[in-house]
Amino acid sequence: MKSFDEYLRDAEQAHGHLCAGQVLGVRLAMLGLIKLGIDDPHGKDRKRLVTFVEIDRCATDAVAVVTGCRLGKRALKFRDWGKVAATFVHVSSGHAIRIAAKESSKALARQMHPEIADKNQQQMLAYREITDDDLFTFQWVKVDLPPEEFPGYKGDRVVCEACGEGINFRREVRTEEKILCRSCAGERYYEPV
Ligand SMILES: [Zn+2]
Ligand SMILES: [Zn+2]
Repeated sequence: MKSFDEYLRDAEQAHGHLCAGQVLGVRLAMLGLIKLGIDDPHGKDRKRLVTFVEIDRCATDAVAVVTGCRLGKRALKFRDWGKVAATFVHVSSGHAIRIAAKESSKALARQMHPEIADKNQQQMLAYREITDDDLFTFQWVKVDLPPEEFPGYKGDRVVCEACGEGINFRREVRTEEKILCRSCAGERYYEPV
């Protein structure tokens, strides 16, 4: 595993700027890896980890950098809960840990560095100094990962009977008489104009 500062540099580069979210995300991901005993996420432990993230904000980019889990590799799963939290799943052992940033961390940063007026700067420094226990809560969990969730899953593609588009990874909706994509089954997030 790289050092905190090395990961932070990588995260800054990937994310485009250095911010409190990068510091928080690097620490959160490193803690996850340590707890799971994964020490080479980009080398020998590659493909051993699936990470669920719960927010589409700065910290998530850092989590992806440290873990090497990416959306395009199916190793990063997004659950849009608006929470600075992530769950790290060791796919061969099934061990999983969910780590969340404590709500009190912002107030603690204020308390530690009242001399820094800029919130981002204040949190960036404090999030380096605060102990894991004061920064995060963690919980061992069990994550149900069916075969189609695994990065290497090879399954049949089906075709939506309404729109004709191909559907991978068992994301289809099967009614009694039809196979539909989620959009045609009513989960559409867009409207044709
Ligand atoms: Zn940022
Ligand atoms: Zn369809």
